[in-house]
Amino acid sequence: MEYQYWNPEIEKMKRPELEALQLEKLKTAVGWALRTPFYKERLRKAGITGSGDIKSLADLRRIPYTTKNDLRDAFPYGLLSISRDDVVRLHASSGTTGTPTTIYFSREDLKRWAGYVARCIYGTGCTKTDVFQNMITYGLFTGGLGFHSGGEEVGMMVIPSGSGNTTRQFKLMQDFGTTVVHATPSFLLHVESIMRAEGVSRDSIRLRKAFAGAEPYSEDTRKRIEELLKIDVYNSYGLSEMNGPGVAFECQLKNGLHLWEDGYIGEIIDPETLEPLKDGETGELVLTCLCREATPILRYRTRDLSSFYTEPCACGRTHRRLRRITGRTDDMLIINGVNVFPSQIEEVIMAMKEVGNNYLIVLDKEGVLDRLVIKVEAGPSIFTDDARQMNALKEKIRKTLQASITINPRVELHESGSLPVSEGKAKRVQDNRPKDL
Ligand code: ADP
Ligand code: ZN
Repeated sequence: MEYQYWNPEIEKMKRPELEALQLEKLKTAVGWALRTPFYKERLRKAGITGSGDIKSLADLRRIPYTTKNDLRDAFPYGLLSISRDDVVRLHASSGTTGTPTTIYFSREDLKRWAGYVARCIYGTGCTKTDVFQNMITYGLFTGGLGFHSGGEEVGMMVIPSGSGNTTRQFKLMQDFGTTVVHATPSFLLHVESIMRAEGVSRDSIRLRKAFAGAEPYSEDTRKRIEELLKIDVYNSYGLSEMNGPGVAFECQLKNGLHLWEDGYIGEIIDPETLEPLKDGETGELVLTCLCREATPILRYRTRDLSSFYTEPCACGRTHRRLRRITGRTDDMLIINGVNVFPSQIEEVIMAMKEVGNNYLIVLDKEGVLDRLVIKVEAGPSIFTDDARQMNALKEKIRKTLQASITINPRVELHESGSLPVSEGKAKRVQDNRPKDL
């Protein structure tokens, strides 16, 4: 296979050189950070008063972690390191787990960011001949404008369709010959369901690739989207605190996400002891941004769970690969004392061919006990008016889930397309249990 690289010199740089580059950039980033009220105070306490105090990459460990709460406390300008007049844009996180946080960009920051996103897009084999439909929310969310700029940087024709309005999405694909889309995996599954329901023929669209991210999804979900839509799906990871998309992305081998280590330093830590873990061990991803002057963020605790591959990738890139992010440390549900991650439930459901494209996890209290209800859409091969077939499928889902998570759920089957679809990130868990019990 012929691989293409946006910036071969950097992407295939030998590790010692790459680490030397990281050290230089880390010094610069610490210099930026020291200009903000928040880090000036934080770093001074850690004995760092100038970028000269960073002498090796090991000195990174002297820098205290930054948390989402720190960002909230520093709101609005505690983390701004340049003059307000030199800020050209702001973005905010989606606020999935609470108050959104705000990030500022200088003109140079935006250029650098677009470069990282372009590197991701180009690395999947796209070129300027592609037509790119960006089916994700625009606005404060970074996924819209982030991919938009990256797509333009590659030179593709970018269609800023935004998310939602599925019928219009098909029309755009047909009218302009869209070859690549970017969307959440849940929206891609929804698009496929609607395509089938509306009788849109696969031959009427030229789609061949999708970038899917912004929310966790399993390998089975990727395969399902690839098989149903007959496209290649690449996993895209990013977060607003690290600019947005363009942090880590799959190459054409689709086996782990290359973290762009000339732009971000990645560490995996034990979320309990906060001690660094070795490559291969699973823990919380901590990221340091080396490419944004306006809002420098050092050693940010993402709360995302992952691990680094220990083997280099056959594509020739030297930047380490992260395993698919399975969820966040704070996604974990405690159901009658048992710890369950929503991704464990997704894995079971999406691996079953008879199951449709959408599901919902509902938690209630029944007396003193928690009750887990899994609402699942039936797939096209299941007739919702055949009670025997429905019961058999419900029983199969129940048994397989119980074997996997040790909790006995109640399973409800719903008609295809009847469960709620979100235009942004999917809301898979509806927890109705009283909070203070
Ligand atoms: P919020 O934290 O409010 O959702 P963002 O919009 O910045 O804010 O989203 C970033 C988060 O989205 C990441 O920290 C991660 O939890 C999730 N995410 C993004 N891309 C992926 C992906 N490919 N796989 C799993 N989770 C992802
Ligand atoms: Zn690779």
